[in-house]
Amino acid sequence: MEALGYYNGTWGPLDDMTVPMNDRGMYFGDGVYDAAMCVNRVIFALDEHIDRFFTSAGLLEIQPSGSKEDLKALLRDLIQKVDPGPLLVYWQWTRGTSRRDHTFPPGPPNLLITLKPLAVPDIYRKVRLITCEDTRFLHCNIKTLNLIPNVLAAQRAKERGCKEAVFHRGETVTEGAHSNVHILKGGGFITHPADNLILRGIARSHLLGACKKLGVPVEERPFTLGELFDADEIIVSSTSTLGISAEAVDGKPAGGKAPELLKKLQDEVWGEFRAATGWQA
Ligand code: PLP
Repeated sequence: MEALGYYNGTWGPLDDMTVPMNDRGMYFGDGVYDAAMCVNRVIFALDEHIDRFFTSAGLLEIQPSGSKEDLKALLRDLIQKVDPGPLLVYWQWTRGTSRRDHTFPPGPPNLLITLKPLAVPDIYRKVRLITCEDTRFLHCNIKTLNLIPNVLAAQRAKERGCKEAVFHRGETVTEGAHSNVHILKGGGFITHPADNLILRGIARSHLLGACKKLGVPVEERPFTLGELFDADEIIVSSTSTLGISAEAVDGKPAGGKAPELLKKLQDEVWGEFRAATGWQA
């Protein structure tokens, strides 16, 4: 099977699967999700993704329907049922099933899982970005299904031939529509603090780990659009890109001024990924 869908114990080819109309995800986007890359049937950084998923569920007061170990075992079981190539493994809990009503319904959450083919990223490629006002709510630390501003921003980026939209609240850069955004300046790594205005990205954590290992100074502080445009390098990180860099923002050349430090960090993260998954390319 090329792509698989799972819903509350039933699974089959992804495009043939359906969910009930009264799933709370339909009415309110009332749920949480996480997603990880799987290569050679190894899900990269799985424990970190599962921990974040349970944290997100806790913050939305969604009661888990099983343990972390149960969920890991299920994901590992399902990946055996699809073709062995690289996959994006996505899973979500919605707050159960009931007719539309704002308050919580009784009963367990609904577990939905999708497995679909994914190209393993070329961490060394350059991408183009746009900037976009961050109109999201104040719970960006929770990986909820409510992603409308992110969807609109990603579409604007696509229309302009760009890979990602960089959100800013006024002058402050927060993160990307589906990534974290960091800069290198004067030999240091600067990234927005992991507060309620950004998602605590797993790839971000791995970049921070690489900085620690390589002795690169880190500042976890808000930075401005001016600093973004003036950065030595701009790094965009996510599960599906790990840590790619930008060559242009809003059509203006950007980054490209600290290629050696950038490569050292990317080599570290890429090496960690390859060692964990056995990926050869
Ligand atoms: N920020 C947002 C809004 C995201 O949607 C994502 C990934 O989906 C990230 C950051 C990066 O998180 P991770 O590195 O865990 O994929």
